[in-house]
Amino acid sequence: MSKEVEKAVIEKSLNFIEEKIEKELKEGTQTSIHTRFPPEPNGYLHIGHAKSICLNFGLAQRFNGKCNLRFDDTNPTKENIEYVDSIKNDVEWLGFKWDNQFYASDYFQKLYEFAIQLIKSGDAYVDQQTAEEIAVQRGVPTKPGTESPFRNRSVEESLALFDKMKNGEFSESDNYILRAKIDMSSPNMHMRDPIMYRVRNVHHYRTGNDWCMYPMYDYAHGLSDAIEGISHSICTLEFEVHRPLYDWFNKKVFGEAKLPYQTEFARLNLSYTIMSKRKLLQLVEEKLVDGWDDPRMPTISGLRRRGYTPKSIRDFCDRIGVARRDGIIDMQLLEFSIREDLNKIADRRMAVLDPIKVVITNFPEGKVEQLTAINNPENPESGSRELPFEREVYIDSDDFMEDSPKKYFRLFPGGVVRLKYAYIIQCNEVIKNEDGSIKEIHCEYFENSKSGQDTSGLKVKGTIHWVSANHAISVPVNIYDRLFTVEDVAEETKVDGDYKDFINPESLEVVTIAKLEPSLANATVNEHFQFERKGYFVADSKAKAEGKLVFNRTVGLRDSWAKMQNKN
Ligand code: ATP
Ligand code: MG
Repeated sequence: MSKEVEKAVIEKSLNFIEEKIEKELKEGTQTSIHTRFPPEPNGYLHIGHAKSICLNFGLAQRFNGKCNLRFDDTNPTKENIEYVDSIKNDVEWLGFKWDNQFYASDYFQKLYEFAIQLIKSGDAYVDQQTAEEIAVQRGVPTKPGTESPFRNRSVEESLALFDKMKNGEFSESDNYILRAKIDMSSPNMHMRDPIMYRVRNVHHYRTGNDWCMYPMYDYAHGLSDAIEGISHSICTLEFEVHRPLYDWFNKKVFGEAKLPYQTEFARLNLSYTIMSKRKLLQLVEEKLVDGWDDPRMPTISGLRRRGYTPKSIRDFCDRIGVARRDGIIDMQLLEFSIREDLNKIADRRMAVLDPIKVVITNFPEGKVEQLTAINNPENPESGSRELPFEREVYIDSDDFMEDSPKKYFRLFPGGVVRLKYAYIIQCNEVIKNEDGSIKEIHCEYFENSKSGQDTSGLKVKGTIHWVSANHAISVPVNIYDRLFTVEDVAEETKVDGDYKDFINPESLEVVTIAKLEPSLANATVNEHFQFERKGYFVADSKAKAEGKLVFNRTVGLRDSWAKMQNKN
């Protein structure tokens, strides 16, 4: 873990899990802390996973313990190595280092042996029924279920059948499964003889064709924790009802040994987006977005491509805290976190997104004056750069109005405005195209009004940004908005809605030709910029990899969305 992350982890106040651990360490019921982050490699990580990563790695850090990265890869049809690699990359990018890297598939042989142990101790049996039959027998929480007709078959028989399951002698449609023999009348449905193994004649991305049956998540997960010596198995609230089963498997297999215990916290939900990997995958597969790292996606890779920094994501996770109450966090908090970080680190640059040409009629033709511009007023160490100034410049169309209202402090016919770091100009004439649109604006500059050396005595109320017309580079810019039009997509679609109906058709606006100051030509994907008065931007990594330059807007300077909503 980097020094920066280490410091941040230590400084923040304790959440309820940390309080509990501190107490355990004091009382001696725990001596060392070992957590794990256990993603299933069936998709890319999202901001919800970041919360779990910050929590698990943060605990190890704070209490001088360890944190494993474990791939819970028990579901072969959905998992692959691309996902494994992306997960490792994202965890590292967030600033965390795992102590061990494991795979649940490393434990397939052990889990198989444990299953035999459970059959022998009379705690598991091979069933042979359809999923429908089993569902009917399971019943409802208020009424006891019905026992399977195979529940009391002999240990020998179960062992022989389990052996055949393992050896590929059955197909999936034969409906052989291994079930834990627990309690068909338990009010907790998870305890009604849950499935441990099912036959699946499929290839696994790591174990290949070694297995033709695979363990269920509930069976594999807790035992994997125990095998690794995990002290605190942290998961989201919906697993609370699985906890008795988690404990049951571990106790049956490991007896009285010191076992991990499960603690639940509320999963992160974020407004205007979704966190389900299944749905995110659908967006990718149906090409509704430009891949897992589309800058509108709530994935770590999407946020990275959008220009989010690891620090802003960690800060966000600190701000939302860890609690046991489910809720939905406002996207604006994430945006606040990135603005706060970028304000300190992003160099300022001039960029005109919707250019109008301004001709400064009294500035000598062919003359280029180099002006000095400060890189970041928040960070004196960032120094300054030169900006070429000449007779023709571009300003943004929203900085000019022909019929301006009273308090309009930008440029209008007869009005004066300062071009930042340059001179005060006055608008004398608006030249139109045949269709009535503005072709260019003719202005005069005041020679003795240069920024920093102004002796003009003129007072102007507005300062606008600009770029030199002949030196500017022409670059496409992507302006992103919310991916969904509604705050709580899950709630809107709870009854029968389709989340895809709520995709924001205006989530991407492409500015095909923005005019940027020349220094931006060499921008790398790791440099963040504030385009003066326009927001924070970063070079798009995908375009860059193709040898092209395109900028993505990370976030606007203020929350224009909230302002719009208030107006409505
Ligand atoms: P799925 O969407 O397929 O159910 P998942 O989001 O639970 O999967 P996993 O790969 O199982 O994905 O998650 C790895 C870890 O991240 C788990 O410990 C899980 O509890 C945690 N996690 C997943 N989503 C969130 C979330 N929205 N907020 C906090 N933690 C999460
Ligand atoms: Mg999961």
